[in-house]
Amino acid sequence: MSTHDPNCIFCKIIAGQIPSRKVYEDEDIFAFHDINPWAPVHFLMIPRVHLPSMAQLGPEHERVMGRIMTLAPRLALEQGCNPYPEGGFRIVCNNGAEGGQEVHHLHVHVMGGPRPWLRG
Ligand code: ADP
Repeated sequence: MSTHDPNCIFCKIIAGQIPSRKVYEDEDIFAFHDINPWAPVHFLMIPRVHLPSMAQLGPEHERVMGRIMTLAPRLALEQGCNPYPEGGFRIVCNNGAEGGQEVHHLHVHVMGGPRPWLRG
């Protein structure tokens, strides 16, 4: 699978062709604020490699997905989420049409901040 899709909006964000408010980046991961936040803190964490969704994950992606999950709590705090357990954050990853996915580059939503904002 190609690591970059020239038609993908999130690949364009990684490449700097579309502006974003960056939260974090390293050689495997890019994170940026959601343009339409549902919560006081709402950012997206994406692998640099273009994967449409979790449905395409294989064993070779265990490291990057593990790193996204272990990095999320640190970034959530840095972005203003309150500490666990009184604070915390929500992680959402929509996959496919029936999963509510609209942008087909795998992304993990990280949302938090003082309630009320939680939906669902
Ligand atoms: P949904 O729109 O139902 O949340 P997804 O899980 O596919 O579906 O989420 C795509 C997310 O990407 C949305 O929260 C949307 O606001 C965000 N988004 C779309 N375009 C941009 C952009 N240019 N910069 C930042 N976030 C974006």
